[in-house]
Amino acid sequence: MGMAVTRLSEEDRFWSHVVKGPEPDDCWLWTGAISDDGYGRFWIRRESGQRAVRPQRYAYELATGEALPASTLLLHSCDIPICVHASADLNGSHVAPGSHRDNMLDRAQRGRYRNRHTLRLGDLPRQVRVQRSLDLRSVILDHGWKPELISAALLGVEITHPRLF
Ligand SMILES: [Zn+2]
Repeated sequence: MGMAVTRLSEEDRFWSHVVKGPEPDDCWLWTGAISDDGYGRFWIRRESGQRAVRPQRYAYELATGEALPASTLLLHSCDIPICVHASADLNGSHVAPGSHRDNMLDRAQRGRYRNRHTLRLGDLPRQVRVQRSLDLRSVILDHGWKPELISAALLGVEITHPRLF
């Protein structure tokens, strides 16, 4: 074709939707599409066609270089559905296969993560969880990484009330 088209690689496109907190233990928040279950959605193209994948699974596969079987459940230690902070070193990863669940819960209970909130977003009713994810994405897109706004969004506090801060 000879057309000089500049395209982001799939990985670059993925990371263009992620905002990382400044500290090593901070969450990396997905700001792309969010599904009606409150989790993210990232579209990829394969020979079989286009399909949506979970950003946290995509990040985990990138970090580990391993394809996750569809049957393997990934769990968040930070309880933030749109977090994609994956690491091959599970001690630093916010997502891990369900078989590591006990380790993750131990770690979470020891308060290892700065972002850890007492609220378990994953346990909220679906519509509430979706709204929290959308609110969280909005504050990140509008304001960048502002811990007080992130906390407010996670807790469902009305962020249009400036006096709260
Ligand atoms: Zn996280």
